[in-house]
Amino acid sequence: MVEGFSRRKLLSLEMAKGENGRDNMQIDGHEPRQANAVYEEFNANYLKAYYGKLFPHAEMFKWMSYGNDGKHPACDHSYFGRREFSFTLDNDIYLRFQSFNNATELENSIKEKCPVKIDIGPVYSVDPAKRHAYAQSGDNVFTPVERELVFDIDMTDYDDVRYCCSGADVCLDCWPLMTAAIKVIDIALRDDFGFNHILWVYSGRRGVHCWVCDGRARRLTNEQRAAIADYFRVYKGNDNSQKKVSLMGPVLHPFLARSYTEVLRAFFEEKILSGQKLFATAERFEKILETIPDESIASELRGKWMESRRSSIAKEDINVIRWEQLKHLLQSGKHKAQGLRRCVEEIVFSYTYPRLDMEVSKHMNHLLKAPFCVHPKTGRVCVPIDPEHCEEFDPTGVPTLSSLLDELNSGGQGAEIDNELDRTSLGKSVRFFRSSFLQPLLKSCKEDMESSYNRKLQQSKNSLNW
Ligand SMILES: [Zn+2]
Repeated sequence: MVEGFSRRKLLSLEMAKGENGRDNMQIDGHEPRQANAVYEEFNANYLKAYYGKLFPHAEMFKWMSYGNDGKHPACDHSYFGRREFSFTLDNDIYLRFQSFNNATELENSIKEKCPVKIDIGPVYSVDPAKRHAYAQSGDNVFTPVERELVFDIDMTDYDDVRYCCSGADVCLDCWPLMTAAIKVIDIALRDDFGFNHILWVYSGRRGVHCWVCDGRARRLTNEQRAAIADYFRVYKGNDNSQKKVSLMGPVLHPFLARSYTEVLRAFFEEKILSGQKLFATAERFEKILETIPDESIASELRGKWMESRRSSIAKEDINVIRWEQLKHLLQSGKHKAQGLRRCVEEIVFSYTYPRLDMEVSKHMNHLLKAPFCVHPKTGRVCVPIDPEHCEEFDPTGVPTLSSLLDELNSGGQGAEIDNELDRTSLGKSVRFFRSSFLQPLLKSCKEDMESSYNRKLQQSKNSLNW
């Protein structure tokens, strides 16, 4: 029997996590932090059962192979074996540069080592497990050659614009910030960059990850990745500067204009404004007034709001009323100045625009937690999120390690279903992963392979004819 997860071990695991408590940063350079509540249900025996019966090993292998596991002459059979996996074990041990030659090796290793976390790194020029052998040759042949373009959005980066929770906590009042982020980024990746194979995953606690898996995305250089990350950057704030967003130029960039009109404006007015009660207290509305460059307008609004706080007991939401007053003053005829009109948009962007962890996107060799891992702190499974229905996603309702095992054990009604996965609420997530992401991806990998093979064949025919 595997020894259960001791409290001490869990504590030390927490301590070893990356700075800011991020669970997906590169695993070196971590610093200790305060460990708080320990999730009792996270138990090595549970994890063993999860990897044994539920984790979609075959799908993970298929995905990471990108069609190279087939019989087509253009398949690169070394492809999967050059991918780095990294395992975090329950005793603080990090195993980096793990590689596997086939599906069976991957599955057996996961089942045997029972990692509390699996991270996925890049595909290297050579098998990462044998990197030292190549390092001695001195010509730097061990280098990342492919990696999905990834994005990491973490709720802790929104702490200055949410009042319901902070730090690691999320609730249904602040989670919509992630929904808005998914929509904005997903639309741009598809419409502006032409990517099709995009996987969104709940990080298991307080954020989302995005994996862009088109061949074109996987082969981007670090410079190109940085350029894409920069495309998404409007948030330049920190806690010390009042202005979180600068929208430059006489007109908004088409991407920002579309994000604003299609997603952010409605989202701000319908969800965030009242959900976060952005104008409910003087402290909160002062933060917004500080961003208005015209002092006379700011003090006019301040005066109005201080007064209304004392007098009126309005039936209507005070946040909505104040926002309408602010908009009216800033956009009214007598304040035609560009900067003031732009100010309304800047406020909306400050409170809703996606805040990306840029470093994760910029470098090929950044590790990112694999989908379908179980978050050691919450016990929640990192399930895919359908971007088309992301507003329906409820992070507090995703399957947890213990709920899944309960479902497995209460087997009765599943007598006619011989697939154990389909007996649990994880079945839906895996089916979504297969049908919406994996199957279209593999189909296009096959087509790419076919056409590049035919092109090469034609070239060699041409050269023979010559
Ligand atoms: Zn919240």
